[in-house]
Amino acid sequence: MAEQRGRVFVSWRFPDPALPLLEAALDVRLWRGDTPIPRDEFLREIADVSGVMVSNATETLDREAMDAALNLRVISNFGVGVDNVDLPLATARGILVCNTPGVLVETTADHAFALLLAVARRLTEAERYVREDRWRGWHPHLLVGQEVYGATLGIVGLGAIGTAVARRAAGFNMRIIYASRTRKPDLEQTLGLEWSSLDDLLRQADFVCLTTALTAETRGLIGRRELDLMQPTAVLVNIARGPIVDPQALYDALKAQRIFGAGLDVTDPEPMRASDPLLTLDNCLIVPHIGSAGGGARARMAELAATNLINGLAGRRPPHLVNPEAWDREPGRR
Ligand code: NAP
Repeated sequence: MAEQRGRVFVSWRFPDPALPLLEAALDVRLWRGDTPIPRDEFLREIADVSGVMVSNATETLDREAMDAALNLRVISNFGVGVDNVDLPLATARGILVCNTPGVLVETTADHAFALLLAVARRLTEAERYVREDRWRGWHPHLLVGQEVYGATLGIVGLGAIGTAVARRAAGFNMRIIYASRTRKPDLEQTLGLEWSSLDDLLRQADFVCLTTALTAETRGLIGRRELDLMQPTAVLVNIARGPIVDPQALYDALKAQRIFGAGLDVTDPEPMRASDPLLTLDNCLIVPHIGSAGGGARARMAELAATNLINGLAGRRPPHLVNPEAWDREPGRR
């Protein structure tokens, strides 16, 4: 008798090689839309599956979803953040939660630096200036920005991406300070980093780069008080998650030019509508959550997310398991 294949729901036509890998091993039901699957349809689709592969930017696996999917054994996220999953609940139910760390680190760090440079040197504003036919000649005060070389960079949340940003900053001869949950003496040595409290980092940094995970502790980490600590010439870059920054406080700080500018890859809410007040500001550069959108990174994420799902459902430990406690508590699954 043929071995029964696991049934899974896949929420996007993810890049190759995800679907060929999944289809070779599992019964795949696929959302083919070019916009995210509507929530009620998602809940119906997952009702009888044992695994899902989803984007952490579009599908939420909360109590409602887990109650709707009582056979669920593996959640495979396309992405590294797992703030779209109720992790304690998944763990309590023995559901494996997997992500795709590592493979997108350099691409996302490149992007953080692209935002940092673009805001410092007012690139989007300058480009609009040319397109709008306002360029009438050279002027000594035209679009003067902030210098990056030799400036101070503050990294908030020194994980894999924060470390990759620090390596880039070394090439710009930057002084690098960091605030993180845990101190990293090795990296302090090898990359010349300085450990700091968040407040001191905000006071000292010319560029503040947010690379922390979104958790209950980091939600709203950068609010009015924190923005007030920053220098008027400072730039805030957020490539982590939108809700780490209070959007109204950021709008007020940028509008009053209490800080120089902000570069946001992630926003609150997402997607951001064109009517959002932040988009009225010249000193705010906003792009639509494209930190990992390098072709190579996306293919590596696709392969890893598919491999996580296939392994988890086959009773093998997935290469990137976020909640090993769920694996340990269910020895019967393998
Ligand atoms: P990582 O290696 O797991 O690093 C996560 C960092 O978050 C660690 O430095 C950790 O601090 C810090 N952190 C967690 N909880 C914290 C808290 N309560 N207070 C302060 N710091 C805390 O992950 P990564 O690969 O660098 O990715 C970081 C985040 O970037 C992801 O969680 C994701 O949300 C976001 N991301 C965004 C994109 C994008 O497209 N824009 C792409 C990839 C990732 P310690 O190490 O000190 O414990």
